[in-house]
Amino acid sequence: MKRVYNFSAGPSMLPEAVLRQAADEMLDYQGSGQSVMEMSHRSKVYESIINEAESLLRSVMSIPDNYKVLFLQGGASSQFAMVPLNLMNGSGKADFVITGQWATKAQKEAARYGEANIVASSKDKTFTYIPQLDPDTFTKDADYFHICLNNTIYGTKFHQLPDTGNVPLVADISSCILSEPIDVSKFGLLYAGAQKNMGPAGLTVVIVREDLIGKARDITPTMFDYQIHADNGSMYNTPPCYAIYICKLVLEWLQNTIGGLEAMKEINERKANILYSFLDNSQLFKGTVVAQDRSLMNVPFVTGSQELDAKFVKEAEAAGFVNLKGHRTVGGMRASIYNAMPQEGVEKLVAFMRQFEADNR
Ligand SMILES: *Cc1c(COP(=O)(O)O)cnc(C)c1O
Repeated sequence: MKRVYNFSAGPSMLPEAVLRQAADEMLDYQGSGQSVMEMSHRSKVYESIINEAESLLRSVMSIPDNYKVLFLQGGASSQFAMVPLNLMNGSGKADFVITGQWATKAQKEAARYGEANIVASSKDKTFTYIPQLDPDTFTKDADYFHICLNNTIYGTKFHQLPDTGNVPLVADISSCILSEPIDVSKFGLLYAGAQKNMGPAGLTVVIVREDLIGKARDITPTMFDYQIHADNGSMYNTPPCYAIYICKLVLEWLQNTIGGLEAMKEINERKANILYSFLDNSQLFKGTVVAQDRSLMNVPFVTGSQELDAKFVKEAEAAGFVNLKGHRTVGGMRASIYNAMPQEGVEKLVAFMRQFEADNR
């Protein structure tokens, strides 16, 4: 069996121990005589899987009791509509910081339902930095303030949260959830597609303060109403059963093997440092993001020559380092080094880059 180092931005690597356990349990989950894929979601055995996934997520992320955890479908992209439908219910206004494509999509979708103000943007420099924010420019009576905490495509991250006062802060954390501790109480709502750091695609996690739900607009489709999902324990309809099960295994791995989010953060910092310090000292490769806004998860870089970029991606793939091509809108390369990427994978990538540099100067 051959496993590659997969630097994909998502879907991305899963911990090998998780895949092995899933393989072991594929035909007979804990003596039930069934695969988790085949189970009724209303069965006792499945109920314990989803309940365990929620309680693990609550403990790993230290989610306060006054927050609901919802296991939904539709991807983070559905949240671009679900958030305004449920939360744009007062002034009908919301503020947005435009730090990349996902933030832009969230703003554009919200603009269909209300006033979606742009308070700052880093589009002028291809989203290579996080813009400075001035709270005086924030909409005082906004129903929420939206950020994309980690910008998957451009490799930036908010290292400081905006001070939005009483306006609930909403964040897309698709590509940084579970990568380090996060103070959930600072947010009104958090959402994430699972396929970056939690499990397979098909599961979307929403963590929302209780007092923000139950006020969805009349036109809100039933399936887009947080209250419906909260009232039904994420089982109003069939949930993404198997993806939730894998997510549970990932959370067990995080808690028991890694030792929680503080430990995960240390590992992720170590991995990112290996790559960033190489980039900072390389004569050929260069990171594209200003140093203080760098992401721990997504590391874009270039050689300065499109031909060399293409050559690098091709040779890296042949050597077992796959999915290093940058996003089609950015070009160059991007190494996504999510939780499941072992330090060894980053070290080997850097060694490969060093050799490529020596061979191509
Ligand atoms: C991947 C990603 C999305 C899109 O997620 P889908 O689940 O494909 O809808 C949105 N936001 C961020 C930050 C992402 O990384």
